[in-house]
Amino acid sequence: MMSSSAYISRCQKELKEWNAPLSDWYPTDLIDIEDENSSNSLFTCELCGCSRVRFVHVMEHDLYFESVSVGCICAGIMEGDILAAKERERLMKNRARRKRNFPKRKWKETPNGNYILMYKSSYIQMICSNFNDEHYGVSYNGKTVWKHKGRPITSFLAGVYAAFDLVDPIEKVMNP
Ligand SMILES: [Zn+2]
Repeated sequence: MMSSSAYISRCQKELKEWNAPLSDWYPTDLIDIEDENSSNSLFTCELCGCSRVRFVHVMEHDLYFESVSVGCICAGIMEGDILAAKERERLMKNRARRKRNFPKRKWKETPNGNYILMYKSSYIQMICSNFNDEHYGVSYNGKTVWKHKGRPITSFLAGVYAAFDLVDPIEKVMNP
């Protein structure tokens, strides 16, 4: 295990080699790698090469041409605030736990074939349209989505995950 100052200087040396800024990066996305692929492979941090990253912090800088996807500590080094990156990671872990439990909630079928679920004192509605193919829309607090991750929602379970992202968005972890 490297000491943290050796680790920090190694990361900064790498950034220098890229002609990249050493600090003031900011996170623009957080990805739970277990959401993205069903295999157990984890992500490799683009800065330090650690191959055991589950939560990917996507970092950007106004003076750099591309985003850099890294693990928690490297994100903290790049933004100059390791505690902030650790807090983001902690919130993301809690969200992943909520997401795992969310499908266990019991939706109630309405007489017209839609579904509702009470969540934080508002109803989530899942509308099932059988017009052509089975197609679901999810709405909560005045916002409705008919796609999830760019794709039409074509099953009840896909609707459940779309509902989760609607009621518990990653943006809330990014800007707590
Ligand atoms: Zn790293």
